[in-house]
Amino acid sequence: MTPVKDFCKEHGQVVAWLMPRQVCALRGVCRQTVSNWMNHGWVHILEQPSGRRLVCELSLGTHRRPEEESLPKKRCPQWQIW
Ligand SMILES: [Zn+2]
Repeated sequence: MTPVKDFCKEHGQVVAWLMPRQVCALRGVCRQTVSNWMNHGWVHILEQPSGRRLVCELSLGTHRRPEEESLPKKRCPQWQIW
């Protein structure tokens, strides 16, 4: 899969944009957690014309949520189906 590269306004540079399920795999969190990050503005979002939302790869590294990462994975019921 070719990573999407586009300009991130917040970073002021071209960055790689990840699909939410890629973020799930990278960070070991469930889909719902990634949706929460996007809804709270904790990660940078790129809206595609199709309506799909992508996540700025760089914003993942700078927006750590220790309180969520400390939760055991079994608290994420959707993890299994993703
Ligand atoms: Zn960004």
